[in-house]
Amino acid sequence: MGYPIDNFDDLTYHHITKASTLRNRSKDDKATLQNGALLCDSSHQNLHILEQIEPELYDLWNNLFIIINKSRNYPDEDTLNMISALQKATEKKLNEFNQKRHI
Ligand SMILES: [Zn+2]
Repeated sequence: MGYPIDNFDDLTYHHITKASTLRNRSKDDKATLQNGALLCDSSHQNLHILEQIEPELYDLWNNLFIIINKSRNYPDEDTLNMISALQKATEKKLNEFNQKRHI
């Protein structure tokens, strides 16, 4: 999600598709490398805040994780541009959310 990784011990496994969530029903829901993204703890927490406040954006991140996993390679330039665009949209939504919480 564009967050720097300061400590590999902070990496967490994000389960992309879970059968238990109504929006992501799928037979292919096992906690595998293909169905996961390694995220630092703070980005993982923000991703799940996003899931609550902007589910469409959360789904775009998950779709991007799937594209990256299927490529089995480092993200290409188009994918990096998508990451950058999603990162900007995510920061905007999280800033709006945090400002509302402090009013
Ligand atoms: Zn997660």
